[in-house]
Amino acid sequence: MISSPWIFCALSFAGCLLFGLFLQTRYLRKSKSMQYQLHAAKRETLEMSRLPLSNPYPMFQMSVQGDLIFANAAAIETFPDLEAQGVSHLSLKGLDNPFAAGTEIVREFSHGGKVYDQTIIAGSVNGRETVIVYHYDITTRKLAEEEIKQARKVAEMARLAAEQAKEARGEFLANMSHELRTPMNGIIGLSDLLKEMDMEEEQGTLVEAVNSSAKNLLILLNDILDFSKIEAGELTIENIAFNLRKVIEQIEALQRPVAFQKGLELISHVDDVVPPTLISDPTRLQQILNNLISNALKFTEKGSVKLSVTGHVDDQKRFVASISVTDTGIGIPKDKQAQIFEKFQQADTSTARKYGGTGLGLSITRDLTRLMDGQIEIESEEGLGTSFTVRIPMAVEEKSVEKDGQPSEEKAGYIDVSKRVLIVDDHPINLLFMRQALQKMGFKHLDEAASGRQAVEMFKLIQYPLILMDVQMPEMNGFEAASAVRRLEGEDKSAIILAVTADAMKGAAEKCKLAGMDDYISKPVDKEKLASLLMKWIPGEEPVEAVVEKLVETEKTPDSNDDVMDWSHIQEFSEGDKEMEAQLLNIFIENLKADLKALSDNFENKNYEGWDCSAHKLYGACAHIGAMSMAEACDKAQSISEDEVSLMPELHQSILQEYEKVMSVLQSRRAA
Ligand code: ADP
Repeated sequence: MISSPWIFCALSFAGCLLFGLFLQTRYLRKSKSMQYQLHAAKRETLEMSRLPLSNPYPMFQMSVQGDLIFANAAAIETFPDLEAQGVSHLSLKGLDNPFAAGTEIVREFSHGGKVYDQTIIAGSVNGRETVIVYHYDITTRKLAEEEIKQARKVAEMARLAAEQAKEARGEFLANMSHELRTPMNGIIGLSDLLKEMDMEEEQGTLVEAVNSSAKNLLILLNDILDFSKIEAGELTIENIAFNLRKVIEQIEALQRPVAFQKGLELISHVDDVVPPTLISDPTRLQQILNNLISNALKFTEKGSVKLSVTGHVDDQKRFVASISVTDTGIGIPKDKQAQIFEKFQQADTSTARKYGGTGLGLSITRDLTRLMDGQIEIESEEGLGTSFTVRIPMAVEEKSVEKDGQPSEEKAGYIDVSKRVLIVDDHPINLLFMRQALQKMGFKHLDEAASGRQAVEMFKLIQYPLILMDVQMPEMNGFEAASAVRRLEGEDKSAIILAVTADAMKGAAEKCKLAGMDDYISKPVDKEKLASLLMKWIPGEEPVEAVVEKLVETEKTPDSNDDVMDWSHIQEFSEGDKEMEAQLLNIFIENLKADLKALSDNFENKNYEGWDCSAHKLYGACAHIGAMSMAEACDKAQSISEDEVSLMPELHQSILQEYEKVMSVLQSRRAA
């Protein structure tokens, strides 16, 4: 038996042995992992040290003395003269002092057809100042950027060219249709006269055909003119106070004869909810509704055409007029209902043959509706009829709505006629016209200035609350005078200055605004428009008589025109007062002579500026008094461009001829 102390000793020994073994294994394991880590670090360091060598882009280190300390393969290949040229090497050109401590320069550097991002970092090796120069090839990126830049440039040029082409096309179309409309009116007027004469049945049929073709052509020309204006963004929507009921009445009166001829019933209904005075563009609204009703009458053989107006007030407190034109005509197939709003599109290929038309009407109608912030909808059943509804939001003239939101009784409109007004115009006829129009509205304190300069002088004495400012005047024009008035006012700027301009083209509004004017009205001044403008700018408490009595279609029908004089202008002016008419004719004749002499003098002296001015003056006077063909001749003569100077003799001659005609008509009227 082995005694227990021995057993104890043996066990202790074995324990020590095992513990020692355990420690050794742990140590060995640890040193192996350290060895492994050391290997990895060594490998990484080696790879890193090789990195500059394997860098595919040029990299080198150089001392301040120009010794090349290190260059990788790419540097040697790209800059073979690097060692020889030292610090004067081109890769270091254009740098101030790259060796200064702390320098880190990043720049773009081009060489050998490549573009690099070059980084230069200053450092030191064994106490020597050095730089390390890295390159990174960015040629591909640069090329891509350049391509994008070029593409952008090309796209911009294309956009400009397209814009110019569009503008030129718009201008051409507008000019063409304008030029064509004049002879067209002549053909219609003359064939209207011919129709009244005795002639054989066959001749009568032919004249009728000439007349209706000419009328159709005129509609087409007007459509093209509108269309080109819309495309060129030149069609502006006016905002004037008007009576929607009256507009509907006029449309009905205009379309009734057509309906009657076709044996159709034309019915209109305006809901009580429609406020008496709304603010929108009545002329464009008429155009929209006339288009829709003309179509309804054209495509309906029996039954009726109904025009109904209702609407509601929206959350912006605008009255959204909802106007429907419903007929019992041929209807439009469902699959064609969208396309008919596109330009030159008709529902059927046989439409043009059977009913005429070009397919422009609805496209213009839709564009106009959109320009007025509205929309148009169609409902139609083939064989049963069609209903077009336009919804247009319109501001409600405040005074037409009572406190409870119910429309008040219809009133004509309000202007504060107690205001003292300064009328500025260099032409006596225009002054007279304005004075008379304002007097009729009830204005009592009216002063006149015959030039921009005089207006400014008068303003120094009296701070007029309202100035009606002609734009084109010699010496100091309306823009300059308005700016001078604004300067005199200083901070105050309370005078309302309204420009009266013959320049109805786009840009006139901006020019007036720039000169500090509040609004403008175009010449020849339409009394209703003038009243609406004044209602907008100087609203008053009292109703004004004779204001917006009727929103007449101002375009004159050709047969109401005498070739030389449209007497309706003078009649409207004098309202049948013979004395007034005689006075007017005297002023006109006197001024006409003087103005024509000025024009002829300018012509003789080749004073182009003076010529423009006197042609403009003559144009204004003739247009106001209704000497339309002379006005037209003067219109052509005003603002001729430099390359049109050769046309001056011809223009001068035609004005002289028109003058003779006007004078003989006026003299005989005066004698009568
Ligand atoms: P146009 O009348 O000159 O042909 P529009 O643009 O005014 O041109 O109308 C386009 C087409 O829409 C018409 O040719 C016709 O086919 C269809 N259309 C328009 N209004 C009606 C209507 N009230 N009833 C039936 N078809 C209509």
